[in-house]
Amino acid sequence: MTEILDVLVVGAGISGLSLAHKLTKLDNDSPLKILVAESQNRVGGNITTVSQGEFLWEEGPNSFSPTPELLKLAIDVGLKEDLIFAGRKLPRYVYWNRQLLPVPMSPIAMLQSKLLSNAGKLRALVGALGFVPPIVGIHMSQQGGEETVSQFFQRHLGLEVMERLVEPFVSGVYAGNPNQLSANAAFAKVARMADIGGGLLPGAVLSGIRNPKSKVAVDSNIPKTRAGELGSFRGGLEVLPKAIAAYLGEVVKLSWHLIGIRRTEKQTYIAEFSTPNGYRQIETRTIALSNPAYTCAELFRPLLPEIASAFDEFYYPTVACVVLAYPVSSIKAKIDGFGNLIPRGQGIRTLGTIWSSALFSGRTPPGWQIFTNFIGGATDPEISQLDSEAIVAQVHQDLCQTLLNQDAEQPKVLAVHIWSRAIPQYDLGHNSRLAQIHHGLKSLPGLYLCSNYIGGVALGDCVRRSMEVGTEISRVWRIARQPTL
Ligand SMILES: Cc1cc2nc3c(=O)[nH]c(=O)nc-3n(C[C@H](O)[C@H](O)[C@H](O)COP(=O)(O)OP(=O)(O)OC[C@H]3O[C@@H](n4cnc5c(N)ncnc54)[C@H](O)[C@@H]3O)c2cc1C
Repeated sequence: MTEILDVLVVGAGISGLSLAHKLTKLDNDSPLKILVAESQNRVGGNITTVSQGEFLWEEGPNSFSPTPELLKLAIDVGLKEDLIFAGRKLPRYVYWNRQLLPVPMSPIAMLQSKLLSNAGKLRALVGALGFVPPIVGIHMSQQGGEETVSQFFQRHLGLEVMERLVEPFVSGVYAGNPNQLSANAAFAKVARMADIGGGLLPGAVLSGIRNPKSKVAVDSNIPKTRAGELGSFRGGLEVLPKAIAAYLGEVVKLSWHLIGIRRTEKQTYIAEFSTPNGYRQIETRTIALSNPAYTCAELFRPLLPEIASAFDEFYYPTVACVVLAYPVSSIKAKIDGFGNLIPRGQGIRTLGTIWSSALFSGRTPPGWQIFTNFIGGATDPEISQLDSEAIVAQVHQDLCQTLLNQDAEQPKVLAVHIWSRAIPQYDLGHNSRLAQIHHGLKSLPGLYLCSNYIGGVALGDCVRRSMEVGTEISRVWRIARQPTL
């Protein structure tokens, strides 16, 4: 241990890497001395692209909403020409009453949709305009005054919208349970709209007026995209973390596992690592933790025991990502969309299927389709008891009901990736747990959290949050360096 680092970033998933990138771009007098420590022997965290022959597939995230911050980052690390976008008009389907029905994406489509009854559409319209029943019931006091996602949407838009649109959407983003997710935490923007406008439509108009578009969006270097479009890279999503890591160079240390943090009398931290070359200590002024919450509890136990247990309370359910390839002759449905989601109660265990090779072309040999299926999640914890073979059999059986001909061939199994702790659930109590943690962290200046259990799980949220944390680190840094009188 010789020199003192300025910033140690823990974790080289998208959050840690984009934070490190931001820190190298800060307009400081002298560059910050940073180090990114990653416990695995690869970068990317959840982002996992695999190729085999002419097949290319994702085992973690499949695509991103093209936010200005994420696009800017991709361009900064030289990936402008590699960006690809799936058409915003590609339909999404919901499997309801044994049929794949398109999700209505416009008011006219909503009126014509077979997914909701006329009564269901009327209920949704009346609620969206602001004629919403008040929050009542004993459960609210039991829930600390918070509404679940299910209660919130049922109150605002009615049971049909909740069951047939919101619930499958919640499966698609969180693999979550709408009866446990907190509306304020998991749908923070939507809940705020309802607060300011009374109903969701007036709230959307008012928040549009109060929060005009981000300035980054008008950067002429950033490709223009429209709401609903989805992005990736020609070589798959993992191209992005690899390009950021290449840009950062040797400050990224692989197979460096953070095992402990100590505070020193000089107001710095000693970070302890197990590395391929044995035990290492690093002294640093600032630490940004982008590792998952369940790996934070042990780190905080000796440092700040009063918040350690709060980290344990974030629930990450098991989700299996099952990537199957079929010859097109096995498929009965027209594969022309993003994919399909399946509400619970339809007799199908799989949560949803991304029609991956229709979304981004050139990822299969001719005559094949890849289906990326997700099964498990917060509504089906028993999935962790099945082995890979049983999971594939279940998914194939489900696909025979939704997408395949009855005499479909057995699939070519490209991957069964079991994420034993997949996505943090923004369940009831999430915001108060975060408040407790942030309150505790006031006694540990220079220690920051920058991970997907704060402020959104989507890749775009991760990049935006990292930019914010980077800006905050820089602000504190400048104040600390100002000469005192
Ligand atoms: C199956 C699945 C599908 C998803 N689909 C989508 C999608 O289609 N679109 C989308 O936008 N989002 C999707 N998401 C969410 C998104 O992928 C994640 O929220 C995001 O990748 C999280 O990035 P992160 O850097 O915060 O965390 P991670 O990717 O978890 O990275 C954290 C890193 O910290 C490292 N680490 C842990 N402990 C230590 C330690 N002690 N020392 C050093 N390093 C440590 C880990 O090895 C890891 O590399 C999906 C997630 C999953 C799991």
